[in-house]
Amino acid sequence: MSQPGLPTLDASLCGWGRYPVIQGTVQRPEKASSFAKLIENDPGETLLAQGSARSYGDAAINSKGYTILTERMNRMLSFDEQTGRLRAEAGVTMQEVLETFVPRGWFPAVTPGTKYITLGGAVAFDVHGKNHHQDGAFSRHLHSLKILLASGDIVDCSAQHNPDLFWATVGGMGLTGIIQEVEFSLRRIETAYINSISIKAQNLYEAVSLFDKYESQYQYSVAWIDCLASGKHLGRSLMSFGNHASLEQLSPGRRVKPLQITHKKRVKIPFDFPAQLLNRYTMGCFNQAYFARQRAQEVQSVVDYDTFFYPLDFLQAWNRLYGKRGFVQYQCVFPLETSQSALVQMLQLCSQAGRGSFLAVLKRLGPQEGWLSFPMEGYTLALDMPVQPGLWKFLDRLDRLTIEFGGRVYLAKDARLGSDAFRAMYRDYPKWLAVKSRVDPDNRFTSNLAQRLQIEPVHERVGV
Ligand SMILES: Cc1cc2nc3c(=O)[nH]c(=O)nc-3n(C[C@H](O)[C@H](O)[C@H](O)COP(=O)(O)OP(=O)(O)OC[C@H]3O[C@@H](n4cnc5c(N)ncnc54)[C@H](O)[C@@H]3O)c2cc1C
Repeated sequence: MSQPGLPTLDASLCGWGRYPVIQGTVQRPEKASSFAKLIENDPGETLLAQGSARSYGDAAINSKGYTILTERMNRMLSFDEQTGRLRAEAGVTMQEVLETFVPRGWFPAVTPGTKYITLGGAVAFDVHGKNHHQDGAFSRHLHSLKILLASGDIVDCSAQHNPDLFWATVGGMGLTGIIQEVEFSLRRIETAYINSISIKAQNLYEAVSLFDKYESQYQYSVAWIDCLASGKHLGRSLMSFGNHASLEQLSPGRRVKPLQITHKKRVKIPFDFPAQLLNRYTMGCFNQAYFARQRAQEVQSVVDYDTFFYPLDFLQAWNRLYGKRGFVQYQCVFPLETSQSALVQMLQLCSQAGRGSFLAVLKRLGPQEGWLSFPMEGYTLALDMPVQPGLWKFLDRLDRLTIEFGGRVYLAKDARLGSDAFRAMYRDYPKWLAVKSRVDPDNRFTSNLAQRLQIEPVHERVGV
């Protein structure tokens, strides 16, 4: 495979979970003009954009063609100080947005639990944050996109102009084209700090009633849940709620430079941890210690945004903790009506099987936006699990439970879901597929995830 003018490189490719690892060919375009060449130069080849590869499984890798690294497409193009609208290339990272705009008093309206993602990745999975129940997903703050299509055309789209292409690209996992530019809104902040409260919940019922109680009072909410606890402690959690802090809420020392934070030293995991360290006992001890580390029932504090939003980013390469074979994250969401029963059953299954996660995450979500967007009004649970014998069978069991309760799995974290289960979970898939079939009839844009889930265009049969 070669494309004149654009150097290629053979590489091992994987997502954040380091499962699966494939051999692929990558290209790294630097200029907008070289994007069009990607389509022209090698008409038989398939393509897929990759941002920071922070999706866990096989969504950002393509073993059947080129994987296009967008990291050099990282220029900020314009910013409107009145409205907070930023237009930037898709390879700009959330970290770059934060470092540029927090000191000027602006913050992303939606951010996931890591800042090392690109804007392209934020759109392609329509990411959600701890404020989804109030502010929706990334797409709610998105104004327009510029996309390279399979035809070679570069087109603009928004919710008003080319809305089908826009809604198929939001959450569309890179399968409609390569996003070149993203225009979205930031929100005004007075300080770079979060006024937060951390509360212990002794079990799942308490956690859910605390989410209900604080839903409108706090913009951000999340629970770190001990998924190995059982009996009357099933679902015990450390819950964290927060709002952007006002100037008056800061200590006099911090008020001097309210939009600046001191970046803490990051620690890097230097090697792959031995797989034997990941067992029911070590995870149970860790979870117990995490829960016990807060003695008081409630602790109030004002913390910088980095500490509140991105605690995992302090531990660089923390995916190595799960050993050489990698890990998957099982993140699912259940509708509000079935959430409690479904979560109880899921936690019971995990606790009985001893298949826990160091820390599981529970969040409240609001309504769905894009056709393939993950959120739905209800509760989402995320469990990190090392790839070990018997895991796939266990996760198949969780899939059945998820479908039975009307839920779905988050494809940004997935590496093993089957195509039938995917169709049962994503009911708007046919609407999405109709647009994919129109804009990419020859399936130029594909990924290992798409191949696994048998996502490909359908052709209307003529004369039948
Ligand atoms: C520690 C951690 C915490 C996380 N927390 C959350 C969370 O709270 N909420 C949440 O929603 N997600 C969360 N995620 C998942 C992450 O936000 C998404 O997977 C996101 O898509 C990753 O962005 P990326 O730039 O790394 O994209 P990649 O992983 O490289 O790609 C993801 C998808 O986007 C497509 N894509 C990337 N760039 C483009 C482009 N320019 N044009 C077209 N398609 C493109 C790829 O083809 C692929 O399908 C978390 C991930 C980690 C590692």
